[in-house]
Amino acid sequence: QFHKSKGQHILKNPLLVDSIVQKAGINSTDIILEIGPGTGNLTKKLLEAGKSVIAVELDPRMVLELQRRFQGTPFSNRLKASDVLKCDLPYFDICVANIPYQISSPLTFKLLNHKPSFRCAIIMFQREFAMRLVAQPSDSLYCRLSVNTQLLARVSHLLKVGKNNFRPPPKVDSSVVRIEPRKPPPVVNFKEWDGLVRICFTRKNKTLGSIFRQKRILSIMEKNYKTLQALGVPQAADVAVDMAVLGDSGEMEEESEDEDEDMDMDMEMEDGETKSDFKEKVLGVLKEGEFELKRSSKLAQEDFMHLLSLFNKVGIHFS
Ligand code: SAM
Repeated sequence: QFHKSKGQHILKNPLLVDSIVQKAGINSTDIILEIGPGTGNLTKKLLEAGKSVIAVELDPRMVLELQRRFQGTPFSNRLKASDVLKCDLPYFDICVANIPYQISSPLTFKLLNHKPSFRCAIIMFQREFAMRLVAQPSDSLYCRLSVNTQLLARVSHLLKVGKNNFRPPPKVDSSVVRIEPRKPPPVVNFKEWDGLVRICFTRKNKTLGSIFRQKRILSIMEKNYKTLQALGVPQAADVAVDMAVLGDSGEMEEESEDEDEDMDMDMEMEDGETKSDFKEKVLGVLKEGEFELKRSSKLAQEDFMHLLSLFNKVGIHFS
């Protein structure tokens, strides 16, 4: 009856539904966005708590069931039958959702990019994804996802949810997280920020000195640098050399495991361009900020911001 591929796990514990709605802090004037209402167990409580609910559901069978369940109420007009990742989102004050876990990362960034920004989002995620979102420097799950989300939002863990609260039960445990967009938003070009953070986390337990000595990284950075220099617009953020060449899968939560530290040392010695001016420029930046021996796994937001500003100061950009 339920589609695994659509991440359909229905919340069957009414006390848990109540607790999520209560923790969301909904005002009676709130326009609520719900993603993946399914059979409407959460929707029903949201309708009671707020002014209105706009719900986006992908599965036409679920849409039919919802229409039947909420027939004759104003809600039936506010049901959008579409893929939340592909549709334009309307204005909303608060988002409350038990989402399909496979869209966690793109959905989080879609919401954080949404303008005008909302007050907060209360979302059920897979436990590990939730722990990555809230991880702090030195935590084992601290990663690019943590750094990027926390740049744009304050994130906190609200509730642990065991798999048996769902039907059918998923394979993993879950957690409810609160995401509050920072207001005003940070004054940083997100694409460029992510470009730098992505490089720093290619090997999160390696020193930045060793990461930025890699030929592959240096050559991409240099290409970008030369393009911007040639255009004479060092600040142009829209002139993007595709940083995706760095081999990212597009999934924020996935990182490559650390490899043998010796490998880069070997590459280093074979590296014909070790004395290039560009390399010196990059290492000069790391030295100036005393970043050479630091590791991403221990760097805070301010550190990444500082590093980015030092690179920008010498005309090096990441988007
Ligand atoms: N909210 C319900 C509940 O808590 O009982 C159902 C939650 S279930 C985990 C996720 C729901 O999202 C399913 O109804 C599924 O059909 C829907 N869904 C899956 N992918 C979606 C997408 N890309 N856009 C919108 N809805 C989607």
